[in-house]
Amino acid sequence: MSKKYIFGPVPSRRLGYSLGIDLVERKFCSYDCIYCEVGKTTNKIIERIDFHNDKEIILQVKDFLTTYTGKIDCITFTGSGEPTLNIKMGEILNEIRRLTDLPLTLLTNGSLFFREDVRIESMGFDIVVPSLDSVCEESFFKVNKPHKDLQLSLIIEGLIKFSKEYKGKLFLEILLVKGINDSDSDLISLRKIIERMNVDKVQINTVIRPPSYKEAKPIEEEDKERIKNLLGDFVQIDLAFSAKKDNRSNIGKEEVKELLKRRPCTFEQISNSLGIDGENLKKILEDLEKELDDGLKIDKFDGEFYYKVLENE
Ligand code: SF4
Repeated sequence: MSKKYIFGPVPSRRLGYSLGIDLVERKFCSYDCIYCEVGKTTNKIIERIDFHNDKEIILQVKDFLTTYTGKIDCITFTGSGEPTLNIKMGEILNEIRRLTDLPLTLLTNGSLFFREDVRIESMGFDIVVPSLDSVCEESFFKVNKPHKDLQLSLIIEGLIKFSKEYKGKLFLEILLVKGINDSDSDLISLRKIIERMNVDKVQINTVIRPPSYKEAKPIEEEDKERIKNLLGDFVQIDLAFSAKKDNRSNIGKEEVKELLKRRPCTFEQISNSLGIDGENLKKILEDLEKELDDGLKIDKFDGEFYYKVLENE
C-alpha cells in the first residue's frame, strides 16, 4: 500500500517516536514562512477545504497500526502545509482515536485559532504545538509572510483563547531568524503575550535545515543567553536535534525516501531520525541516487550537506 499520507515514525525531542500524518497537499498553507523546509507556499489560503483524503488517511493509519512492530509513542497531525486547513481534521481525528490509544498531537502554525471550529476540533488532541514567531507586525510579515486577510491581533487573541479553553498539553514553539524576529523589543513583546497564555512549555528553535528563502539565517550560540534572559526562565531553548539510534532493521530505502521528501536532512539527521547505522545508510543513499538520479538533491546550508528528494519522485 502506498504511504502517501503517513511517514515515520521519526523521533523528536518532545514527542518520542512519532508517526506523521500529512493532512494537506503540498503546499497549501496560510503562511509562507521564510524558514519553511517544505518549500515556498504555492497555495496560500485561509479557507478550510476538503482535500478528499480522509478515507485514504484512515486506511493508511489502520494498515500501519496493524502491521508495524517497531517503537511508536504518538501520532502527529502535520502536513506539507497547515493541517487545520483540512476541513475534515476533526473527523479524521475521531476515526483515528477509535483505532488507537496512542496520544494524538497537532502541529499547527496557530493562524486559524481565531475560528471557533478550529479551536473546538483542536481540543480533541492530547498535545497541541502551535507556533508564534512574532507579535510585532513588521517582523511577523517578514518571517511568516501571512495570507493577506490574516490579522496578527486576531491570531494572537485566538491563541490566547485556545490556551485557556484547552485541557491537554500545550507546547508553544517560536522560531527565531537572525536579524528578523530576534531583536530585544520583539522578544519583550512576545514575552508579554506568552504571559497571557496558559502554556506548558515554550520552545525556541532556529533555522536548522535549508530554508525556502535564503535570507533566513539561524540565530547563533551566543544569542541564547540574551534570548533566555528576555523570555524568562520557563523557556526551553533547543537549537539542535539528536536522538538515540535503535538500528531498526526493517527501515529501508522507502522510509528514507519518504523522510527526504518531507524535509531535507544531513546524513547524521537521517541516521538519527530513522535509526539506521552509517554503513547501511550509505548503501541506501547510493541506491536512491541510482534510482532517482536528479531526483535526489544535495544542498549545502550553514556548512552542512543536506539530502532532499524532489516532490514528484
Ligand atoms: S513552516 Fe509551517 S506554517 Fe510556515 S510556511 Fe511552512 S508549513 Fe506553513
